[in-house]
Amino acid sequence: MKKLRKTKILDIKNVCKHFPIYKGVLRKVIGYTKAVNNVSIEIYKGETLGIVGESGCGKTTLGKCILQLYNVTSGNVFYEDADKNQIDILNLSKNEKLNFKKKIQVIFQDPYSSLNPSVTIRKTLIEPLKIHKIDNPIEKITNILSAVNLDPDYINRYPHEFSGGQRQRIGIARALSLDPEVIICDEPVSALDVSIQAQVLELLLSLQNERDLTYIFITHDISVVEYLSNRVAVMYLGEIVEILDTVNLVNGSKHPYTEALVSAVPVTSLKGREKIILEGDVPDPSDPPLGCHFHPRCKYAMDICRIEKPLLKSLSGSNSHFVSCHLQPS
Ligand code: SF4
Repeated sequence: MKKLRKTKILDIKNVCKHFPIYKGVLRKVIGYTKAVNNVSIEIYKGETLGIVGESGCGKTTLGKCILQLYNVTSGNVFYEDADKNQIDILNLSKNEKLNFKKKIQVIFQDPYSSLNPSVTIRKTLIEPLKIHKIDNPIEKITNILSAVNLDPDYINRYPHEFSGGQRQRIGIARALSLDPEVIICDEPVSALDVSIQAQVLELLLSLQNERDLTYIFITHDISVVEYLSNRVAVMYLGEIVEILDTVNLVNGSKHPYTEALVSAVPVTSLKGREKIILEGDVPDPSDPPLGCHFHPRCKYAMDICRIEKPLLKSLSGSNSHFVSCHLQPS
């Protein structure tokens, strides 16, 4: 794993995405689902930041907020350019937004449903290049197909003519076609067979090294994050509860939720350690528990946990490990 340079590329500040809950024929708003609530995190150039958590924790919604597929309820996402200018990407004009979209691209989970079955790979890949008026588009897509280890002669084939792994390579080629700086990978290997997963992860790593890409890797799979990422942000009920370097994930995590997620992974370094079975489901994000949102499922819960919400704070003596838990000294 390469060493991080800690040059900031994205600065996510207090991002909230609250979906209104409607009731009745008049569609009166009776509450909000806080899918993402007050999330702040810096992302560094060239790193892979893993975002993990159970289904419904808000990780995919956060990705869609960064991609501007959702309008945020509040908060900002700043992009820092080479001259350290901070650009508020959620408040760009229409033209600026189109221009900026090149910098952040996405790879989706299901390569089949993310490709239009009725158009050839040539059309799928050439469309964004035309929108952004890129020169020599055919030469460009030929090079990109080679970069993802696909034969450029396949250019006139349709998605159903490819295997699952090949379709995900096409998804990666599409994400690369505009030479982005950041790629949001939303569960990109979870729909693939295990043997193909390893190939696609290797490909993502080699492309990152060649092109100095920054990845935000959204997954529920701790072992994938451990393999690929430099840092991990753990989300629970729309909020980040722990941020730490991946090297500390297995033996140095401090939040009981992270501890439970890690304990469920069959890795050798955890042999002999107690497996923590999380009781119950993730609570309803429209009506989260008072105090620490995790307290109904936490085996360490204390009286204060039921009343007072812990803040995400840096661990004493560390500038890279942040935890929100009353067990940590204030
Ligand atoms: Fe558990 Fe309390 Fe820490 Fe929440 S604050 S994770 S309930 S110990």
